[in-house]
Amino acid sequence: MKELSNKASALKLSSTLKVAEIASKLISEGVDIISFGPGEPDFPTPDNICDAAIQAINSGFTKYTNSSGITELRKAVCDKLKQDNNLDYTYEQIIISNGAKHSINNIFTALLNDSDEVLIPDPYWISYAEMVRLSGGVPVIMHTDEKNNFGLTSELLESYKTDKTKIIVLNSPNNPSGIIYNRSELELVADFAVKNDLYVISDEIYEKLTYDGKKCISIASLGNDIFQRTIVVNGFSKSYSMTGWRIGYSASNKKIAGVIANIQSHESSNPNSIAQMAALAALKGSRDTVFKMCSEFAKRRDYIYNRICGIRHVYAVKPQGAFYLFVNISELCGHKINGRYLENADSFAEELLREMHVAVVPCRDFGYDKHIRLSFATSMGVIREGLDRIEKFIASLE
Ligand code: PLP
Repeated sequence: MKELSNKASALKLSSTLKVAEIASKLISEGVDIISFGPGEPDFPTPDNICDAAIQAINSGFTKYTNSSGITELRKAVCDKLKQDNNLDYTYEQIIISNGAKHSINNIFTALLNDSDEVLIPDPYWISYAEMVRLSGGVPVIMHTDEKNNFGLTSELLESYKTDKTKIIVLNSPNNPSGIIYNRSELELVADFAVKNDLYVISDEIYEKLTYDGKKCISIASLGNDIFQRTIVVNGFSKSYSMTGWRIGYSASNKKIAGVIANIQSHESSNPNSIAQMAALAALKGSRDTVFKMCSEFAKRRDYIYNRICGIRHVYAVKPQGAFYLFVNISELCGHKINGRYLENADSFAEELLREMHVAVVPCRDFGYDKHIRLSFATSMGVIREGLDRIEKFIASLE
């Protein structure tokens, strides 16, 4: 038979799969697993949002909508971007998609030609590089310095730039590190992008989950030149605990928005009509539940970070946002457990799961093979018990 698509066949299997496989086998054997894996809030979707969806169904709002999303929701997104981020868009510039992941994929499809390069600072969300490849582009991972809180510098940007560079991807707050870029870092990326005629994709999906009074600045707000060449991505999954509803959006200049609209009209028609009404209610309603969820995450962040600081041979940068702790376990590599050698985060995660029944995410596919990600989107009780087990595991290493 003829070969399958080269681009699709080149997609990598996620390094988290092995751990997931062992976890599901243990669960099927009745083992109680503590999981630090979840990439979604453990809170229910707020009632006012669910009610709006029920109302949409009851009123028959169950048919195709405009493929770029209903105008009311696109206008509400404009209001949000104005109010929260000081960004001026008209509704034609907003494309509502089936989650932020879909928005990002649409953007790469809209912008990339074969062998265009996309700069992605590490650590990075695993899907960026694969989506770039699917669109025919080349992901170029910029290796940042953990000692410098994974920060961005002019030297770093310059050292990865080639004449094929087309896009820089920013994700702040970052998955998996939780760092937030400060104004001066964003200013230098903006200058660099404008000077070199680059686009910026600013993935702001964790924007509402920040700690210690830290606020996210959208790079698009730093002046008209950078505004024109930035595509802002955001969504409802993380801020409103709506992961399953699948609503995200992009905001961009009219030319890019037009191309994304065309792609989406052929690819998936419209985002789910009921979920769009739910998202509208999220934007129009009170944000009390968002604040409550965020303050609970802040308590867990403090707890998990302090516990990790108290364990010898592991280290983490304190997250300023999102709900992950990115833990450096490099000092433990080379040690053994029951005669088995820990080579990297993959083997660390496998043995931790086998020995202590704790699931963590090994971060090879986030660009770091000696780091693990601990999600604190799980209850305090689970976090406490999981950390006790991790501490015991580390203490038992030979
Ligand atoms: N961007 C980042 C950095 C994420 O971590 C995720 C989900 O984990 C997404 C985008 C996708 O979010 P959505 O559920 O809206 O597709």
